[in-house]
Amino acid sequence: MSTIERVLPITRNQMVRVLRYLLDSVLACAGALLVTGVILVFHLYPGIPNISIVYLLVVLALATTRGRYAAILSAVIAFLTFAYFIVAPFKTSGIYLVEGWIALFVLLIAAILTGQLAVALRERAEQANRRERETRQLYEVVRATNREAEQAHQQLLAYEQAARAEAEATRARLYEFFMQAPAMMTILRGPEHRFEFANPRVLPHRDRADILGKTSREVRPELVEQGVLAILDEVYTTGTPFVGTEFPARVDRRGDGVLEEAYFNFVYQPLRTAQGLIEGILVHSVEVTEQVLARHRVEELNLQLEAEKNALRQAEQEAQARTAELEAIFEAMTECVIVCDARGEIRYTNAAYRSLLALEADTDPSLLQLNNRVTWLAFRDLGGRPVSKEQVPMLQVLRGERLSGTHRIDLMCHTYKGEDLILNISGAPIHDAAGQIVGGVVVFRDVTERLRLQQQVQYSERKLRVLVESNIFGVAVTEGAGRIYEVNDRYAQVVGYRKDELLSETFSWHQLVPPGSQEAQAHGEETLLSTGALPPLERESLHKDGRHVPILMAGALFDRERDLALTVILDMSEQKAAERRKQEFLSMVSHELRTPLTSIMGYIDLALLYSDLFPRPLSPEAEKLLGKMETGLKRAMRQVEIETRLVEELLEVSRLELHKFELSLHPENLVTIVQETVANQQQAARTRQIELVLPPDELLPVIADAGRIGQALTNYLTNALKYAPVDQVVSVRLEVEASSARVSVRDLGPGLTVDQQLRVWERFYQVAAPGHQGPDGGLGLGLAIVKAIVEQHQGQVGVQSAPGRGSTFWFTVPIEVSPEG
Ligand code: ADP
Repeated sequence: MSTIERVLPITRNQMVRVLRYLLDSVLACAGALLVTGVILVFHLYPGIPNISIVYLLVVLALATTRGRYAAILSAVIAFLTFAYFIVAPFKTSGIYLVEGWIALFVLLIAAILTGQLAVALRERAEQANRRERETRQLYEVVRATNREAEQAHQQLLAYEQAARAEAEATRARLYEFFMQAPAMMTILRGPEHRFEFANPRVLPHRDRADILGKTSREVRPELVEQGVLAILDEVYTTGTPFVGTEFPARVDRRGDGVLEEAYFNFVYQPLRTAQGLIEGILVHSVEVTEQVLARHRVEELNLQLEAEKNALRQAEQEAQARTAELEAIFEAMTECVIVCDARGEIRYTNAAYRSLLALEADTDPSLLQLNNRVTWLAFRDLGGRPVSKEQVPMLQVLRGERLSGTHRIDLMCHTYKGEDLILNISGAPIHDAAGQIVGGVVVFRDVTERLRLQQQVQYSERKLRVLVESNIFGVAVTEGAGRIYEVNDRYAQVVGYRKDELLSETFSWHQLVPPGSQEAQAHGEETLLSTGALPPLERESLHKDGRHVPILMAGALFDRERDLALTVILDMSEQKAAERRKQEFLSMVSHELRTPLTSIMGYIDLALLYSDLFPRPLSPEAEKLLGKMETGLKRAMRQVEIETRLVEELLEVSRLELHKFELSLHPENLVTIVQETVANQQQAARTRQIELVLPPDELLPVIADAGRIGQALTNYLTNALKYAPVDQVVSVRLEVEASSARVSVRDLGPGLTVDQQLRVWERFYQVAAPGHQGPDGGLGLGLAIVKAIVEQHQGQVGVQSAPGRGSTFWFTVPIEVSPEG
C-alpha cells in the first residue's frame, strides 16, 4: 500500500488575502480601542492598576481567531492608546513614570507573546486537525484499495485458472500444430542442443525415441563441419535469432551416409526462461531444395534464353550489316548484278545493271519481268545466233547450274535502247537451308570493248606477225641491257648466228656492234630512250665471222619500264656495194667532168678578157652585142662555178666513201682559223650581218687541217646565210669546253625537227619542207662532208634546233695540250 506523501496546499486568492488583512486590521483596532474606550469611560485606571490585562484577552482572542497579525496589531494599538489616552500625561506620547513604561512594555510583550503563543497553539491545532483529516482520508483510501485488491486478487485467480486452461489448450494445440506443421519443427534444449522435440518431418526415417534427448552433434554429425552447429552455438550464446534463406546444406536423408545437396529456409529462434535466460532454440525449417533447384534451372534457362536472344539479335544485326554491306558492294561494283527468285523474277538489280542496260529509274517495272526481259534483251551467241529461252543465263542458274570459271558464258544482247552489247556472264543458284533453290544471282560484265580491243589486237598482231615472219627484214625484241627476247630468221641470217644463240641468256646484242661503232650505237640508244624511237640509221653489224655487215637499223621502244624495243635491221650489203660502184663511177665522172669544167672556165675567162680588149669605140649595135655576150659569159661562168662546186662536193664525197679523204694535220690556232673564215664569208656576203664571239684567250691550239676546218665552218655559215632570213644576224661562237673547243653557228632560220636533225648528216639528204631549199640547189652533201672532216679530227658534230626557232650547228675539235701544260 502506497503512502500519501503530502496534501496539496489550498490555493488562496490574493484578493481574499488582502481582505483578510483588512478585516484583521479593523478587528485589531476595534478590539484595542473598545477596551481603551471602556477603561477610559469607566475610569477603570488606575483604580484597577492591572486593567491592561484586559487587552491580553483581546490579543488572545484575536490570536486564536484571527492569527499573529491581528494579535500583534491589537497589542501595538492597545499599547499606544493606553499610553496616549489612559496613562498620564494624557494625550501625549510621553510617560513620566518608569513604572508606567515598564507596565506598558510588559503589556506589549505579554500581548505579543500571548498572541504568538495563541497563534502557535492555533497552528498546532490546525496541523493536528489536518493530520487527522489526512489520516482519515488515507484510511478511507486504504480501505477502498484493499477492497479493490481483494477483488483484483479474486479476479486474478479466476484469470489464472482460465489462463492455465487456455495455456493447456494452447499448448495442446501448439503441440498438435508443431506435429502437423508442414515444416520441420525442432526444439533443442541446452548448450549442447539436445533434441527435446522434433516433429515427424524432422528426420522422418528415424525413430523419435532414437532422436529425443540426444545432442545435435550426435543426431546430425554431417552438419558439424558445414558450420550449422556453429550457428546454433552463436544463437544460443548471443540470443540473436538466425534466419537462413535458401541455405545450402548437404544432408544424409536416408541415414546411409550419402550426403545430398539441399536448400532450407529456416529460423533459429532462441527460447528464454521467464527470467530471460536462454534455455534452448526453436528450429523452424522448410526444405526448399526443389524450389531453389527449379529456380536455378529457371535462372539458367533465362540466362540461356537471354544468351540465345542476344545471339539471335547479334546474328540479326550481323545479317543486316552483311546485307547492307553486300548491297553497298553490289552498288559499287562495275559489274551488273541481278538477284532473282525461284521463278526468275527480279528481286534486286544494282546500279551498274540499270545503267548498262539503259534502264531509267522510271522504267516500267513490268519490263523487267522474265518474259519481257528475255524478249528485249534478245540474247545471242557470239556468232549472232539467237539463244533459246532455256539457255538464258538466269534460267540455267535456277536449274542449279553454276556459271563460273570455265562455265562462264559470253553472250550478245541488246540494251533496253537496242544497242548491242557483249556480256561475259557468271552466276550461281541460291539455296535455302533445306538445299532447295530459292533464287539465283547472275553477274554480267560488259566485255564489248574488251572483245573489240582483243580483236583489234589480234588483227594488229597478225599484221605484225606476217611482217616479221615474211623475213623481208630482220626483227628482234631487244632489252636495253643486251638481252634479245625474240628474233626472226632474217635477223639471225644477217648477223650470222643461230636463233637459239641469239636468244640465249648469255648473248647480248652489244656483241653485234663493231668496235668503231659503239659511240654511235650509244647515241642511238640515247635517242631511242629519250624519244621512244630510233629513226632508220645506217650502221654496221658485226657478223659472227667477223665481217662488218652494212645495215639500216631502226627501232621503237614499246615497254619503257622493261626497256624493251622492237629493232628492225635491213641488210644493206647489196645497196652498199651498188653505192660503192656508183661512187666509183661518180668519182670517175666528177674527175672527168672537172677537167672540161676547168677548161670551160678558162675559156670563159679568156672570152671575157678578150671582150675587154676589144678596140673601142664600137658601133652601138656592136657594143650592145658585146654587152649581151659578156652577160651571157658571166652567167655561164656562175653556172660553171656552181657546177664546179657540185663536182667538188661529189668528188669530196667519193673520196670520203672510198676512204681517200686525207688531212694534212698541223698545230694551228683555232681562233685564227675561225676569224679568217668569218672574215671571208663577211667579204662574200657584205649585206649580211655576221656576229663573232671569241673566247678571252687569243690562242686555242689544235692539231688540224686548217683548210678543212675552215671548210667545215664555211659550210655551216653558208647554210645559215642560205636558210636564215636576210635581215637576221648569224652568230658564230668559239668556246672552250673542258678539253675541246666548240665552234657553233646560230641562225634564225626555219629550224629542224628531231628527225631532220638526225638525218641532215646523211649524204644527199635535203629537207623537203619550205624554207629549206637553198637558192642554188645544193646536193645535200655539205653537212655529210662537215661530219667526215670533224670526225677525222676526233671531234663531234651536232645541231640544236626546233621548227621555227632557228638552228645552232656545232662541231668540236680537241684542244692540243702543250707538254708544259
Ligand atoms: P645543201 O647543199 O642542200 O645545203 P647540206 O648537207 O649542207 O646540203 O644540208 C642538208 C640539208 O639540211 C639542206 O638541204 C637543208 O634543207 C638543211 N639545212 C642545212 N643547214 C640548215 C640550216 N642552217 N637551217 C635549216 N636547214 C638547214
